[in-house]
Amino acid sequence: MKLILLGPPGAGKGTQCKRITEKYGLAHLSSGDILRAERAAGTELGRKAQSYMDSGGLVPDDLIIDMMIGAIKKAGAKGYVLDGFPRTVVQAEGLDAALKKAGERIDAIVSLEVPDEAILDRMTGRRSCPKCGAVYHIVNLKPKVDGQCDKGCGPLMQRKDDSPEVVSNRLKTYHEQTAAVLGYYQRNRSRIIQINADQPIDEVSQAIFTALGRLGR
Ligand code: ADP
Ligand code: ADP
Repeated sequence: MKLILLGPPGAGKGTQCKRITEKYGLAHLSSGDILRAERAAGTELGRKAQSYMDSGGLVPDDLIIDMMIGAIKKAGAKGYVLDGFPRTVVQAEGLDAALKKAGERIDAIVSLEVPDEAILDRMTGRRSCPKCGAVYHIVNLKPKVDGQCDKGCGPLMQRKDDSPEVVSNRLKTYHEQTAAVLGYYQRNRSRIIQINADQPIDEVSQAIFTALGRLGR
C-alpha cells in the first residue's frame, strides 16, 4: 500500500504515520525527519536546507523531489506512507512523473483536517526524542517520566522551529503553498480520505483505520 498523509504542521501526521506504518508494515518516509537527519550528519543537503527550516519556509522543490524519490526507491516493494511530502504542486507533479515512470500509483491520500486555532498549542507542546524520533506532547501525550523518552533513549528536546514565531510562519507557508496540494489531487481524481483530526489521537487513528478498511486494507 502507498499512501500520502496531508495536513498542516501539527495536524498529527507524524503521530498517525507511525501507527499506520506499524499496523501495515510500511516504511514511514517523513521529509522533515530525513532533512533533520541530513542536518545532523552535516551533509551538503542538510547545510542547504538549514536556513529555510529555521525560518519556517520551504526547502527548494528540486532538492526535496530528488531526496524523496531516492527514499521511495530505497523503500522498495513493501509500500510506504509519505509524511510532509509533497508540500507544493510542483513537488506533487514531480512525484507523479517518477511514479508513472516506475509504473506505480498512490492508493489514497489521507487529509488530516484541523483548524489553525488548534495548531499553536500542539506545536509549542511538542517534544521529540532526538535519538529514536518518538513524538510526545506535554499535555496530550505525556511521556511516562517528564522530559524523558519512554524507550530509554534519554532526554526529549523541543524543536527550534516549534517556537510561536516560527509556527506562525509555517502556518502562513502552509496556506500559501501547501493547501493547494489537496486541490491538485482532487483535480486528478485521486482517492482522498478526509479525516477530522481535531479530536483525540486514538479517535483520529480509529477514523483512519476504518477508512482504510473500507478500501479493503
Ligand atoms: P505533524 O507531523 O503533522 O507536524 P505531530 O504528529 O508531530 O504533527 O503532532 C504535533 C503535536 O501534537 C505532537 O506533540 C503530538 O503529540 C500532538 N498531537 C498529535 N495529534 C494530536 C491530536 N489528535 N490531539 C492532540 N494533540 C495531538
Ligand atoms: P511538521 O511535522 O511540523 O509538518 P516537518 O518536520 O514536516 O514539519 O518539516 C520541518 C521543516 O522542514 C519545514 O518547515 C520545511 O522547512 C522543511 N520541509 C519538510 N518537508 C518539506 C517539503 N516537502 N518541501 C519543502 N520543505 C520541507
